[in-house]
Amino acid sequence: MAKVIAIDGPSGSGKSSTSKRVGKALGFLHVDSGALYRIMTWQCLAQGVDTSNPDAVAAFAARVEIECRPEQGAISFYVNGELPGDRIRTPEINAHASAVATVKAVRDRITAILRGLTQYGDLVVEGRDITTAVFPDTPARFYLTASAEARALRRQKEEVEKGIANQSAEAVKASLLARDAIDSTRKYAPLKKADGALEIDSTTLTLDQVVATVLAALPADWR
Ligand code: C5P
Repeated sequence: MAKVIAIDGPSGSGKSSTSKRVGKALGFLHVDSGALYRIMTWQCLAQGVDTSNPDAVAAFAARVEIECRPEQGAISFYVNGELPGDRIRTPEINAHASAVATVKAVRDRITAILRGLTQYGDLVVEGRDITTAVFPDTPARFYLTASAEARALRRQKEEVEKGIANQSAEAVKASLLARDAIDSTRKYAPLKKADGALEIDSTTLTLDQVVATVLAALPADWR
């Protein structure tokens, strides 16, 4: 059976950098589940689907074709034969993704896709409901946090470096907190720390320290 390391936490808590490094260290494929919610949102916006209408989003989500391919240490998600790249990382997608992620049909579809990825091998999966709903039985479950200020600064730096947007840290913080609020209060699979998950506050830790903490907490025969 494939091994799964599940890492949840709010935006900017360090999930992506940590998961990628842990995956590389162990030879586990990295899976960014947020990318699937972003793809659904991107496609809704591109096709003029009202993201505040759950019925419209649910009907549309069933038709979005997503192809999963293991490549270069990660699972890539292709839409109509193309990689979405940074088109799914814009402030506009940030503003709509949490609403799309409240829709049960969207969550059910993405959960099924994620569970199916174990066919490709061992995984390190990051998201908001991986430890609570997608892979709740894995022995390797982590909840990453950091202060809102630290998270906003990381995200803002990333947006500027990648040339995605040029928002102030305050604007990034407001967008991030708005998403956190929807993600942690929604009806289906809200963001929360799972019982038994190891919480790591990365506010004052280096990436190396967070990665070392995760690796040290894994079952001994996984390391
Ligand atoms: O991780 P990322 O910030 O890219 O996720 C974008 C959005 O997708 C989140 O704000 C959340 O609404 C949704 N999401 C989710 N469950 C996951 C991963 C992401 O609801 N497992």
